[in-house]
Amino acid sequence: MTIQLHDTLRGKKVRFEPQEAGEVTMYLCGPTVYNYAHIGNARPAVVFDLLARVLRRRYKLTFARNITDVDDKINAASIETGRPIDDITAHYIKAYNDDMAALGVQPPDVEPRATQHIDVMIAMIESLVEKGFAYVAEGHVLFDVSSFERYGELSKRDLREMIAGSRVEVAPYKKSAHDFVLWKPSTAELPGWDSPWGRGRPGWHIECSAMAEKHLGKTIDIHAGGQDLVFPHHENERAQSRCAHDGAPFARYWLHNGFLSLNETKMSKSLGNVLLVHDMIETIPGEVIRLALLSAHYRQPLDWSAATIESARRMLDRLYGAVRGISVSDEARRAATVPDALLEALEDDLNTPRALAEVFALARALNKANEENEKQSLAAQLYACGELMGLLGDDPEQWFAGHVEGDMPAAEIEALIEERNAAKAERDFKRADAIRDQLQAAGVSIQDSRSGTTWRRGG
Ligand code: AMP
Ligand code: ZN
Repeated sequence: MTIQLHDTLRGKKVRFEPQEAGEVTMYLCGPTVYNYAHIGNARPAVVFDLLARVLRRRYKLTFARNITDVDDKINAASIETGRPIDDITAHYIKAYNDDMAALGVQPPDVEPRATQHIDVMIAMIESLVEKGFAYVAEGHVLFDVSSFERYGELSKRDLREMIAGSRVEVAPYKKSAHDFVLWKPSTAELPGWDSPWGRGRPGWHIECSAMAEKHLGKTIDIHAGGQDLVFPHHENERAQSRCAHDGAPFARYWLHNGFLSLNETKMSKSLGNVLLVHDMIETIPGEVIRLALLSAHYRQPLDWSAATIESARRMLDRLYGAVRGISVSDEARRAATVPDALLEALEDDLNTPRALAEVFALARALNKANEENEKQSLAAQLYACGELMGLLGDDPEQWFAGHVEGDMPAAEIEALIEERNAAKAERDFKRADAIRDQLQAAGVSIQDSRSGTTWRRGG
């Protein structure tokens, strides 16, 4: 059995073969950090986290998920609130990582930030200008879409039809309405960097092309993101990268998750129907949200409602109910393997509905088992499935104790983590360890990484 993935470019499910035997590179477009992630934003983070876990079983994976920390929406948020840009981005980067950790999302191997890669972007833009794929006009640098004849292939659009059908006002410095910005000038109040075209800032698309090249190389195996990114973001990333790299393929497989709607309507701030993960995890266990996100196939649309959450909660009750009261020995845990049928489902284009059906079949078998050895082995297998899928990380008794009500509030956890970081900075490791123990006793586990400390309930 090999891994099968649906590739947007080819428009079908294909056999996955990495460029280098045994190694895989994957890039996921990450958040623009000017507000909290909503439940729709969590969908790519969770489904591609699961794909990363599945790939890691077979390959040495390098998974990059970027952070867009220079963007006009961030500038607008700063102007609106009077809060410095760095404050805003630092706050929302940490919140994003904490919120995703609460959903069982493991940190990526690399988390490149756009503002730390401006030099790589400038170099790529220079090469595009030099090779005739981009032009400079009024302090802007624009990609000339007519110079790349494969433009539109990924999103299945015909550039000639697009031009004929376009009614948009074209900025005077653009040769064509579809040319997009690689670099734009900044006024004194806006963030900017010196460049051959004057002080300015990069366009959004070039950020990902440059960071993917820097961390994963010219040709990457998997490029992932939400469906809305196919056009223009990924079409433009592909055009830039292929042209800058003399036609070398950019991504060998393009994966896109379907959209999440809320009570059958598009989630939209202006309609006031946006659910933020940050708020949801105050009352809903992270695993419930994770399971709900995984309950539909990642390419299908997913409608989110109170019923989605209830059904995921009941599913977890069944799983925790099956393992409840069975104390699995370390030996049984070590010996346990994930059933082949579950792996086959996940390796078949991440078929999570089928994978979950396998997990429930195992839970049913466990419920029927009478013999202690069999119970131990089935429970251990169920835990192994949970570990792979990022579920069943809680103690069953704690799960049924309704751990939400009694939980330590998030603000208190964060204050303790801050205190612990301060203690570490002062080399007071005794105090730091005591805080970690205190959190652990409250069912909160923490994980330190270079970008800070994240926490999650359970596990
Ligand atoms: P953004 O910060 O808007 O660029 O979104 C971050 C990620 O979330 C991108 O991969 C988007 O495609 C994805 N995304 C945004 N809204 C939704 C939604 N309603 N359903 C699924 N994915 C979404
Ligand atoms: Zn991107």
